[in-house]
Order: sequence, then structure tokens, then C-alpha cells
Amino acid sequence: MKIIDEVKDGLPSNAMISEVCFEGSDIVLYTKNKDMFKSNGNFIKKLVKKLKKRIELRPDPSIRKDIEIAKEKIEEIVPEEAGIEEITFQPGFGKVIIEALKPGLVIGKRGSTLDKIKKETVWKPQVKIAPAISSDVVDTVRKVLYQESEWRKDFLNDIGEKIHSEEIDKVDWARVSCLGGCREVGRSCFLLQTPHSRIMIDCGIKPGNNHEYPYLQVPEGEIKSLDAVVVSHPHLDHIGFVPYLYEYGYDGPLYLTPAARDLMVLLCLDYLDVAKREGNDVPYSSKSVEKAVKHSVALEYDQVSDITPDVGLTFQNAGHILGSALVHLHIGEGDHNLVYTGDYNFGESKLFNKASTNFQRIETLITESTYGENDAIQPSRKDAEKDLINYVKKTVDRGGKVLIPSFAVGRAQDIMCILDEEARNNNLDVPVYLEGMMWDATAIHTTYPEDLNEKLQQQIFHKDHNPFTSDIFHRVGSGEERDEIINSPDPAVVMSTSGMLTGGPVMEYLKEFGPDEDNSLIFVGYQAEGTMGRRIQKGWDEIPVERGGKRKRVELNLEVNTVDGLSGHSDRNQLINFLNALNSKPNKVLTVHGDENSCIQMARTVHNIFNIETIPIKNLETNRLK
Ligand SMILES: [Zn+2]
Repeated sequence: MKIIDEVKDGLPSNAMISEVCFEGSDIVLYTKNKDMFKSNGNFIKKLVKKLKKRIELRPDPSIRKDIEIAKEKIEEIVPEEAGIEEITFQPGFGKVIIEALKPGLVIGKRGSTLDKIKKETVWKPQVKIAPAISSDVVDTVRKVLYQESEWRKDFLNDIGEKIHSEEIDKVDWARVSCLGGCREVGRSCFLLQTPHSRIMIDCGIKPGNNHEYPYLQVPEGEIKSLDAVVVSHPHLDHIGFVPYLYEYGYDGPLYLTPAARDLMVLLCLDYLDVAKREGNDVPYSSKSVEKAVKHSVALEYDQVSDITPDVGLTFQNAGHILGSALVHLHIGEGDHNLVYTGDYNFGESKLFNKASTNFQRIETLITESTYGENDAIQPSRKDAEKDLINYVKKTVDRGGKVLIPSFAVGRAQDIMCILDEEARNNNLDVPVYLEGMMWDATAIHTTYPEDLNEKLQQQIFHKDHNPFTSDIFHRVGSGEERDEIINSPDPAVVMSTSGMLTGGPVMEYLKEFGPDEDNSLIFVGYQAEGTMGRRIQKGWDEIPVERGGKRKRVELNLEVNTVDGLSGHSDRNQLINFLNALNSKPNKVLTVHGDENSCIQMARTVHNIFNIETIPIKNLETNRLK
């Protein structure tokens, strides 16, 4: 292979390289020369500059210190205050992962501590923040990745060989086919094709009574011949059908951010649980979720990576949920740049910075249009936060309990930040209870603080205050704990799934809190037509419940409020502001992910303002990009 030959040509005679291999798009060299490894040979810098690739030097197994000895050395070198929680060796990669509560102290001044670890253990150290709240999901994911490190080494090398198998100067054509998520919200799925690539972008389900899946039955939906799958974010309507691909023969890479990978596991397993409980067919088994993890290639924001011979990929912050990304696909040698937004928020929230607009070039933009309709303007976030606090306080002051139905990921953590700030300013004194799955999702947020809003990061890293571990929050882990909260005479706030009152533990609370007019119910998210949430918003004042096998009715006397404006999506103004703020203006915009009116009106507006080609594209249509 040409690139490997070029690397070999650039090696000094004393480099003692035992192996040159790929790790996806990157190149890794293993050396038997201890001094060379310790000093990270100057030749690496030169090679990086020449080949424009990420190249890393790692120790050959023969020069590494014994694992037990290396572990002792690390514990000796790192100061105790760093709070090391876990040291994991990955022999396949010559790496040691150190998880600590204060990663800065493992790194040391200008990397001095880390450098010492490297020199004394002769392993390549990598530091991660230990999650402030431990999570079974994160533990499981890391276990799969670590245990499979030998297998993954070969897998990543194979990907690299495919990426580098052809030298491509010019790409003559590229097109995108819509397999789901057009003029509808749900089952987002697109296929980018070039002469050398078949890349699937998102593969979701459409939740609802009869689950709908992407149009994979069409010829271009053929699973086995895909080269890569890229996912924008881990909501089920974007990722929920990915394990199905692995169930039915796809065995290639899954590109997503690290946080998206972990949330995928939480949400897909929950999706299977709920489906089974309700007696529905499940499209795949939990084994296939694990298979997706095993095949995942996690990319950080702004990390440039080739994924096929003629397509490069970069993720940028989308501000929508943890790990959500705008997907930038760079086709050929800059022949065409496609940006697929997934879902994004071009407004700052307590949790995230607003979506990035920093793209050097965009020829085609595929944008979500959830709030694309002409009148889809959301109230300001400030007002929404104020409303929420006022409703909570009013209920607490009269001795009542507050029930907040919410999605487990995103909205719940946003509300936690709002309530915590109020409590810290001594304006709110009430325990807040979170049902199990919400707690797990929160734990995953504490695993990736670097993905959160800058101000929030400042708090966590420099002011030593992590809102998620604030002592106002309590996990509800069992039925007994739930009963205790229900039977306690004291005011409390309870946050629970499902967000639209379609099932889940929230229903238990609703039937207990419902009859008492001192209590209140606060909706913090969109309530879809046909859901119990929407019915109550419309004025239903009783709900049917089952008790002891009998159907009964429970009166709803509690106060019902709705807080708009906490959405993780851009409203119509923000969609337009985003387009305006882009560094590079696209010459074509496809509007997707919105109901029919939203996609059409959004396309019309963008055309009128920017005078560029816009298409409210339909499912099963294909558009030629180049
Ligand atoms: Zn989403």
C-alpha cells in the first residue's frame, strides 16, 4: 500500500519499528526502541506534516513493563488527590487508560506527570475523567471495548486498509437518497453514494403505535454492501434502527461521538424492554446493540477522519442533546461538502453551547425543519426558565408535590441545572426525585463534561460544583422508595418518564398525585396528538387506571401547567439565524425532519431569503449533489 510505503520511507534507521498498522483513518507504529518511544521520535512530526494523517508511536509488547509493575508505578507517580478510580490496560493497542476524578492532576504541568508515566511504564497513557456518578451503561460499554481490544485492533486495521486501498483524485458524482425522515419526524435515514462509497447517515425508527422503519427494502437500502454508518445523535428516531443493521449482516464501522455511543446503549435497550413489556415485536435483540458497540468508531468533535477512499467525516457540536453532532462529509479532494444537521439548537441552553457554524465550505446543506412553519416561534429560554421556577415554587409553598414528566435524556438534565441553580441561590428548598432511567442518563452526562456548555464546564472543573451531584437530587431505585415519596406528607418534585404520559413510572405518580389540588403537573416538552399528555393539556380532568385488575377513574384536580421554550431544537428564527451565521453559504438546501407543512414552508422561506435552490425532498427521492 502506497501510504504504508511512504511511512516506511520516512523512518530513521534506528526506529526499530515492528509493526505499521491502521486504526481507522489513523496510522500507528509500534517500536522496539525504548528511547525512541519515550522521546516520541521527531520523525513522527515530519511524517504527519508530509502525509497529513494522524500518526502515533506506541510501544512494542517486548519493551512494555509488566502490567502489575506498570500499575504500581502509575499509582506511585500520580498524586493521591487526583482520585484514580480505574486503571485499564489495553494490550492490543499498547495503551493504558487512567480514569481519575481530577484528570488534570494525572496530566500534570504541561503534561509532565503523563510523560513520566509513559517513560517509566513504557505504555502509552491516556487519561479520562472518572464519571461523577457511576453508570452501568458506561461500565458495560467500556468493558466491551476493552475486552475486545485484540479483535478491534484487526477490525480498525481492516477499515484503514479499505480507506487507503485507492488513491482518488477527483470524484465525478455524488448523490443522496432519502430512506426516511422526509416530510415527517421519525425514522431518519439517508444514503450518500459516490463512485467509491455507500454511506448511511442515521437509521432511526418512528416511534408511535405502529412502529415504522426506514425504507431499507429498496435496492439502495441493501445492508451488506454499506461501507460505513454515521449517526448524528442517539435519539431513537435517528439511531433506533442501527442495531437492526448488525442483526442482518452489516459488519462495518459505526461512526458517532463517544457520548452518543453510550446513550445508544441506554436508549436502544430501553426501547427493547418497553416493546417486550407491551407485547410488541422487536426488530432486533440486545446482542445486536452490543455488536453495534463493538463496531463503533467514536470520533470527538472537530476530529477529521477519512471513512472511505473518497469521503472524510467531521462532527461538530449541534447543541441538541449530549453527544449530538452536525455531520460534515467532505467528498473527494474538496469536490463537494455536504453538511447534514441532524437535530440542532442554535440557541444556548444551560446544558449546551449553541450549534457550531464553523464550516470552511458547504455546497449542500440538509437541515432539520421541526419548527420550520411560519409561526413556529418559541418563547425565550429565560422566560421559560422563570415560568418553570414559579410553577414549582407556587406548589411547594402550599405544601404540594410537583410532577414533571420528561424524556430521560436532555430535558431532564436541563431542568436539573435550572432547579439546582435556584437551590444554590437559596431560593428553593425541596428534594427532587429522579426515576431510574433518568438517573442513568444523568450519569452518562457526568461522564462527558467536556461536551457540556462552557459555563457549566467552568462550574464543574474550576468551582468544584457539579449540578448533577447536588444533594437536592435523589435516585428512585425501587417500588418501596416510590411509595415512600408518594406517602410522605412533605412537598417534593418528581421527574419521571415517559415525557408524554404514554406509560412508565410517571403514571404511578400521576394517579396518586392527581386528586389533590395542592399538587401540580408541569409539562416541559411537546405533547404529541393522541397521547395522554395532550389530552390532559386539552382539559381532561380524569384518567382511567387499573387497580387490582379493575378499571377505575382517577380525578385530576391538580394544577396543570405547560412550559414552552425549553426545546432542544431551533425554532424558526433560529433555523434562519443558523443559515445566516454559516461561514460558507450552501448553494443548495434540502429541508427534512418536520411534518409536510414545516418542510415546505421552511424550503420556501430559505429560498426567499437566500435566493438559493431549496427542496422539501420526499422519502424515496434521490438528489444528485454533484
Ligand atoms: Zn433528536
